[in-house]
Amino acid sequence: MSSCLFCKIITRDIPARIVYEDDDVLAFEDISPKAPVHILLIPKEHFASLSEIPAGREALMGKILSTARRIAGDRGITGTGYRIVLNTGKDSGQEVFHIHFHLLGGRPMSWPPG
Ligand code: 5GP
Ligand code: ZN
Repeated sequence: MSSCLFCKIITRDIPARIVYEDDDVLAFEDISPKAPVHILLIPKEHFASLSEIPAGREALMGKILSTARRIAGDRGITGTGYRIVLNTGKDSGQEVFHIHFHLLGGRPMSWPPG
């Protein structure tokens, strides 16, 4: 989608610090990290949010989660733990409408979120 910020990161029209890529998934450092590890994981195909994932494409979400788990291992935060956030829609605070999972770790986090 030509107007989408994260689609432009996929096509390299906007630079990002990419940490992992395959045919389906891209992972890159968040531009404004909220924790020592803050990586965004997205499908290469454009979907605005979880609410827009069509029936039959749920496996893509599982692939992204297993990628996040592997990156957490690579970053050495499996033992200390990490949080995966999937903001969906206005009340969640979603700002970029290309579905993305936040992988956050490297410090203790509070609950509930604000
Ligand atoms: P949301 O609030 O939609 O769940 O999260 C959007 C995230 O995208 C934010 O954490 C924000 O810092 C990040 N972000 C926004 N613009 C850019 C950008 O141009 N590059 C990168 N790498 N991250 C971005
Ligand atoms: Zn997009």
